[in-house]
Parts: sequence; structure tokens; C-alpha cells
Amino acid sequence: MTIRYHCRHCKTEIGSLPFESARETLRLLEELDRKEEERFLTVGKDGDLTVRCICEECEHTLQSNPDYYTFTKWIQ
Ligand SMILES: [Zn+2]
Repeated sequence: MTIRYHCRHCKTEIGSLPFESARETLRLLEELDRKEEERFLTVGKDGDLTVRCICEECEHTLQSNPDYYTFTKWIQ
């Protein structure tokens, strides 16, 4: 089972981790409520977990466009 990280803005695959080495991520995900979970997580048919987060490039864009920040809630 694998956890894949996709940028939720440009859809780039940031990387993937074997499930076992992603304890920190899983711990954070447990703190999400049901609604947030649906927003940030997708469980694939093969059991893989896709986490929608933000890539470095979009983070940069975000930092140079602070106005945009007010429109979207970001997860990091
Ligand atoms: Zn991105």
C-alpha cells in the first residue's frame, strides 16, 4: 500500500511513500474531520491513498500572491 502526494493545484505528483513510512502523515490525517478527509484524501481501488497537498512551485506562487491566500485554505 502506498501513499501518493499530489499537488491539489497543479495536479503534479509530488512523491509517494510506502504506507509504513508515513506514520507522521497518517497521524496528521487522523486529526482531520470527516469533511476535510473527503476533501484531501482519495482512497484508490487498490487501497492506495492519495493525499492532496501543495507542491513547492504552488507554494511559491501562493507566497508571491498573498491575496490568493484568502480564497483557499491550504494544507501543508
Ligand atoms: Zn502545484
